[in-house]
Amino acid sequence: MNKRWTIEKIKEFVEKNSDSTLLTTEYHGFSQKLLFKCACGTNFEKTFKKFKENNQRKCDVCQPPKASR
Ligand SMILES: [Zn+2]
Repeated sequence: MNKRWTIEKIKEFVEKNSDSTLLTTEYHGFSQKLLFKCACGTNFEKTFKKFKENNQRKCDVCQPPKASR
């Protein structure tokens, strides 16, 4: 997947596909952790890859990390 993402496109994606808001204003790549604000008001950090591809679109309180069993 070589689609080029800009901070504007990411912000738009976040607003359209989740209840969270993007707080980060600069995007440097898939490995960068971005700061989001969850609908519950909690801020959380996640890479855009995880947010988009792993569907981790809320904070750890609203969407706890999956248990391994
Ligand atoms: Zn939350």
